[in-house]
Amino acid sequence: MDPPPKSKPPALLPIVFPPLSNSSFPSRFTLESVPYPSHRRPVQNLVGELRIIDRIRARASPSNAVRLAIGDDCAILIPPARHELLVTTDFSLEDRHFRRAWHSPASIGHRTLARGLSDLAAMGATPLAAFLSLAMPKSIARSPRWLDGFLDGLLALAAAHNVPLAGGDTAQSPADLILADIVLLGFAPAGRALRRSTARPGDLLYTTGALGGAAAELTALSASPRRYRNATPSDNHPHLFPQPRLAVGQSLLRRRLATACIDLSDGLSTDLAHLCTASNVSAALDLAALPLHPLAAALDDRAQFTALLHGGEDYELLFTASPSTKIPRSIANVPITQIGRILAPRKNKPQMTILTGADRFELQPHGWEHFA
Ligand code: ADP
Ligand code: MG
Repeated sequence: MDPPPKSKPPALLPIVFPPLSNSSFPSRFTLESVPYPSHRRPVQNLVGELRIIDRIRARASPSNAVRLAIGDDCAILIPPARHELLVTTDFSLEDRHFRRAWHSPASIGHRTLARGLSDLAAMGATPLAAFLSLAMPKSIARSPRWLDGFLDGLLALAAAHNVPLAGGDTAQSPADLILADIVLLGFAPAGRALRRSTARPGDLLYTTGALGGAAAELTALSASPRRYRNATPSDNHPHLFPQPRLAVGQSLLRRRLATACIDLSDGLSTDLAHLCTASNVSAALDLAALPLHPLAAALDDRAQFTALLHGGEDYELLFTASPSTKIPRSIANVPITQIGRILAPRKNKPQMTILTGADRFELQPHGWEHFA
């Protein structure tokens, strides 16, 4: 290979060391601090990365599972013996997963954590620790108001489920958008985590809680966001403050009740299709059996149907069980409803059908899908 041409690298910045306090040059020399046309002005956070991290650190609670928490290069966790670690990560992106005009900072914080906790719930895992990567535009980082509200929501849900915030990353967002990424670690007895790929023909299909509530509340929220400004997690707000079903998932695992499980994040039709595909089975739903959330009962018939079958973000658990397993009517105070059955897959037959009265229709996945 030819040696690379020897040209002098362009002089980007004079290197000033130590940095002068009143210099317009950033004190850290990273890609972020090299001036280029889209941000010529020096990076100058009024709150500042370290002050933000201090603010988060001051509020994060300790845990026996965390030997070393926020403050070093890595956290050190102590996973329980004879258990496996489960890891999940979820984006919460402004204008994709939430809107600043619709969602209070507390709701955004709550929902950010709830997404990850629900994935742990689906596999019957117990949370070990959470990690939060947060990028905020300068306009938001200028005052601690938004961050404090966000932490109120996130840490209240974390406390309710006994999950410590053990680390993360903080950056200035390159655009006027808030971006949050949550990583959750959980644990489950070795070899016992629930999966979506283990449903068997003949199993019965169940859901926790009620369906369509999050879609119904989102519809109402989009019509009058002001009405929801002071919503709190203690009221019933399936969209703004969803309750991940951790206790149910753990109980299903511990009592060996479920053959397979998935959480309802994208909508029943889409998540059931995921379960069927992963398990290589088909499924028949009974429309009359689907538990309609009271908030969705106010919608017209068509919207009700859509909210039930395709409305996402209910964060309930959809699980299967052998017909010989007695499933309680409620687990951890959450009602359980049988909504259908699992069948053997058949060539040229729909993967999912829905029974309405005497008629049977094909059900297509129409829930949430990115890049659709
Ligand atoms: P490094 O540059 O070595 O990755 P950072 O300065 O980014 O470290 O972070 C310092 C400490 O603060 C680490 O323990 C990190 O996990 C924690 N931390 C940074 N941002 C957050 C955040 N948004 N939430 C929780 N902990 C955070
Ligand atoms: Mg480091």
